[in-house]
Amino acid sequence: MTRPEIRVRDLHKSFGDNQVLKGIDLEMERGEVVCVIGPSGSGKSTLLRCVNLLEEPTKGQVFVGGTEITDPDVDIDAVRRRIGMVFQQFNLFPHLSVTENLTLPQRRVLGRDKASAARTAAENLARVGLSEKAEAYPASLSGGQQQRVAIARALAMGPQVMLFDEPTSALDPELVGDVLAVMRRLAREGMTMMVVTHEMTFAREVADRVVFMDGGVIVEDGTPDQVIGAPRHERTRHFLSRLL
Ligand code: ADP
Ligand code: MG
Repeated sequence: MTRPEIRVRDLHKSFGDNQVLKGIDLEMERGEVVCVIGPSGSGKSTLLRCVNLLEEPTKGQVFVGGTEITDPDVDIDAVRRRIGMVFQQFNLFPHLSVTENLTLPQRRVLGRDKASAARTAAENLARVGLSEKAEAYPASLSGGQQQRVAIARALAMGPQVMLFDEPTSALDPELVGDVLAVMRRLAREGMTMMVVTHEMTFAREVADRVVFMDGGVIVEDGTPDQVIGAPRHERTRHFLSRLL
């Protein structure tokens, strides 16, 4: 029995008296791609943010690669280095070039020297198909290119897990495909990925599992064919019918 790469156990999160996560249990194997779907406000972002400790869980445990990251004694910075996160908003530094956006966190957080950070930046820009934009500034790039830079920036840190929170939701429709193509390649390379998305075609093609959340709980967890193709719960059917 291999150890799961991510294990979430009885996770609860409240903001004041707003109970947002009400007992989430989830395991992911190494190399697995899990798409998280569900209505707005169901707690998808909060779940991702608890998995890299951007939010502190109210109760429950999160393990990444066998380490309990919710242990109060854990080194939070060391945890975050192992988990890459990509948001709906790309959050690039506007005053830095693409390469500088990739090298700065490597130097600051990982202490890499300039040459090694630049080399890793170049490798990861190539991975997202943007080598020719190395010296460009974010404002000169399309939204899809900026999001691919944000993905490259996360990859340059050498994460063992990648979390994506609606990475294509802020993009014009014609730019979505390039970003999904990068994510599809990453999945094929064996990256462990948790992806909150409304892109059902992507989920069906790329996800090993789809998790449907509603009201702070996991309602359904199964293969894409099960959860999207033949949902067992009325709440899932209702959600999916509104996406079409
Ligand atoms: P989803 O990503 O599924 O749309 P979220 O996890 O963003 O859902 O939000 C779920 C609920 O948690 C919402 O009611 C939201 O208002 C609340 N919430 C999220 N983050 C915070 C926060 N930092 N402070 C207070 N409430 C929050
Ligand atoms: Mg969200």
